[in-house]
Amino acid sequence: MKQVDTKSLINYIALKILGGNDYLLNALEEYLVKGEGPATVAYRYGISKHQLRGYTQRIIEKSGGEPRARKIIPILKRISKGVKPIVTKEKTSGLYKCTKCDINVQSDDAEEHVREAHKDLLTLAIRQMTDELEKVKMEINKKKEVVVTSTQ
Ligand SMILES: [Zn+2]
Repeated sequence: MKQVDTKSLINYIALKILGGNDYLLNALEEYLVKGEGPATVAYRYGISKHQLRGYTQRIIEKSGGEPRARKIIPILKRISKGVKPIVTKEKTSGLYKCTKCDINVQSDDAEEHVREAHKDLLTLAIRQMTDELEKVKMEINKKKEVVVTSTQ
């Protein structure tokens, strides 16, 4: 059975969020976990169905299957709460702007910009998410212990 590629998942999500696609986990949760229609979800976040399916496919691959992806998405949401976008989409103009450099970037180049100009912030976001994941894992283990002791 395929393993969950946690490191790759965290890297992927951190870059998506910093690059201004911070809706991604909400969209995936609605589509993959809650089972809403792809057209509805894509429309809600202003992306194409094709893009939504592409994101979903990436997450499923990195999770090692669809059932695991469904379990992992809420955890990813939880551990990425403190991570905020660097590149944001301006509502009026629809342009993507780097809030750190105060320059406009093409939406397609947003992630590349983060990777090249803000590697330190990306590393920080990844570390933050990794630390949060450890906390979640500890909590899950604690709950398991409680279940075991209470049934004895
Ligand atoms: Zn920048």
